Amino acid sequence: MATNATSSFEFSAKSLPLQLFIDNAYVDSKSNKYLTVHNPKDGSLVSDKVPLANDQDVDAAVVAAENALPGWKKISASQRRDILLKFAGLLEKHTAPLAELTRITLGAPFGSFGAFEVGLAAEAFKYNAGWIDKFLGEAVPQENGFMQITRNEPLGVTAGIVPWNGPLGTVGLKAAPALATGNCFILKPSEKTPFAAAALGPLIKEAGFPPGVFQVLTGDGTTGALIASHMRIRKVSFTGSIPTGKKIQEMAAKSNLKRVTLELGGKSPAVVFDDCNLENAATWCANALAANTGQVCFAATRVYVQEGIFDKFAKLYKEKLEEKAKTIGDPDQEGTQMGPLVDKSQFERVNGFIERGISGSQGTVLIGGNKTDKTGYYVEPTVFTNVSADAEIYSNEIFGPVSILNSFKTEEEVVKAANATEYGLMAGVFTQDINKALRVASDFDSGMVGINCVSLTFLTAPFGGSKESGLGRECGRAALQAFTEPKTIMINMTY
Ligand code: NAD
Repeated sequence: MATNATSSFEFSAKSLPLQLFIDNAYVDSKSNKYLTVHNPKDGSLVSDKVPLANDQDVDAAVVAAENALPGWKKISASQRRDILLKFAGLLEKHTAPLAELTRITLGAPFGSFGAFEVGLAAEAFKYNAGWIDKFLGEAVPQENGFMQITRNEPLGVTAGIVPWNGPLGTVGLKAAPALATGNCFILKPSEKTPFAAAALGPLIKEAGFPPGVFQVLTGDGTTGALIASHMRIRKVSFTGSIPTGKKIQEMAAKSNLKRVTLELGGKSPAVVFDDCNLENAATWCANALAANTGQVCFAATRVYVQEGIFDKFAKLYKEKLEEKAKTIGDPDQEGTQMGPLVDKSQFERVNGFIERGISGSQGTVLIGGNKTDKTGYYVEPTVFTNVSADAEIYSNEIFGPVSILNSFKTEEEVVKAANATEYGLMAGVFTQDINKALRVASDFDSGMVGINCVSLTFLTAPFGGSKESGLGRECGRAALQAFTEPKTIMINMTY
C-alpha cells in the first residue's frame, strides 16, 4: 500500500518508519520479508518489521529514478542549491528525533555522537549546495581552428550503501555530492541502524526533491548486492568492511562496470615522539578511542610512543581513558559519553578479541579488559601494551574501544611499523619539530594524516584510504568528481 509521506515529520522511537521510500511515497516492500533490530542498551526488541527490499523494490526505485533524471539534470543550479539547503535546514530542525531514531539501535548518546552525526549530514548538504554553481568545466585554448570544452556530467542513477556506525553522517557524505551534481540517488542504510535514513521521506518531500530523485530502501546485504549488481545503476558509493567492499567491486565489474567508491576499514597508527606536547597527544589519542565507543573507521588504535616519554604517556593516556570509562552508560541519560556497542554480535566479537588478548598473553593490560556489570552491550576502553606484531589484536580492525600501545626508539623503525599493514586510512604524528612532522606525514602509507591531531575529518578536503582501506575519495571537490564524468565537447570554429 502506498501512502503519501506527510510533510510534517512525525517519526520517533514510538512511531517508527517501517516502509520503503520510493518515488516520494512510502510503500510496502514486495518481499513481505522483515528484519529485526534490538536496542543495544538492554537487548530489548525495537522492531521485527523493518522491510527487506527485494529485486522488485530495487527495480521500482531505479525506474522512478530514471524517470526523474532528465528533469533533475536540467533543473537550474540555483533551484537545486535551494533544495539541498532546505533539506540541510530540515535535518537540523529535526536533529533530536533523527538522533533518537539512531540511538535506539546504535546506542550513540546525543551529546557525544548523536547530534554531531546529524549535524555532519546537514553540513554536508550545505557544503555541496555551495559547489553547485562553482563546479565548473574547462575550456581548452583553441588549436588549428578547434576548441574543446569539458562538462562535468552526472552519472545517472547512483546509490549509497552505508554502515551502521555513522548512519546519517555517511548519508550526507554520499547523497549530498550525488544530488548536487545532478544524479538521482538511492540510499540503502545498514540493517542494524535503519531508522534515521528510513525517516527522511517527509524531509525529502518538504525540501522539494522531485519524485524519484532521492529514495530510501531498507534491507540487508541481499538488497545491497542487488544494487551493486544492477545493470542500470551507474555508481555505488560504499562505506563498510573490506570483505564487503571487495564483493561490491566484483559485482560492479561483473555487471555494468558501474563506478565504485569504497570507504573501508582501518587500524590507524598514532606516532608520538619524545618532543611532542604530551597533554595534546594523550588527549587526541584517548578521544579517538572513546568516540562512538571505538566504532569509528579512522580511530587511532595503534599508538606508538618514543621510549623517553613512554611511561609518562601511558600514565596520562590511562587517566584520560579512565575518565571516559566513568561516562559509560545508558545512552538516553544526559552526561553519558560512551554508549554500548551496536549489537550482540559486535559485542561478542570485541570481547572475543579482548579475552583472547588476555588469555593468550598478547600484551599487558594497561586499562580495561573487565566485563562491566551493566546489562546491554557495554565495553570498557581497553589498552594492551607491548604487543607483538603477529598478535591478532595488533593487526586486526577490532571496531571497539580497544587499542595497542607500544614503544619505539627511532623514526625509521616506527614508520616501518606504522606502514606494515594492508590498512591505510588515517595516521597521526605528534611532535614539535615541523621538519620531522612533515617527513613522517609524507612517509605514512595513508590517505589522511594528522599532525598533532589524529582521527578527524573535514568536509572540505578529500577523505578516504589508501591500500585496502579504500578506493576513491569523499568530501571536498573529490566527492563531486566521483559522482561525475568529464564530457569533452570539440568545436570546429571554422564553420
Ligand atoms: P558491512 O560491510 O558489514 O556492511 C556495510 C553495508 O553493506 C550495510 O549496509 C550492509 O547491508 C551492506 N552489505 C553487506 N553485505 C553486502 C553485499 N554482499 N553486497 C552489498 N552490500 C552489502 O560493514 P559494517 O559492519 O556495517 O560497518 C563496519 C565497517 O565499516 C568497518 O570495517 C569500518 O571500518 C567500516 N567503515 C569505514 C568508513 C570509512 O569511511 N572508511 C566509515 C565507517 C565505517
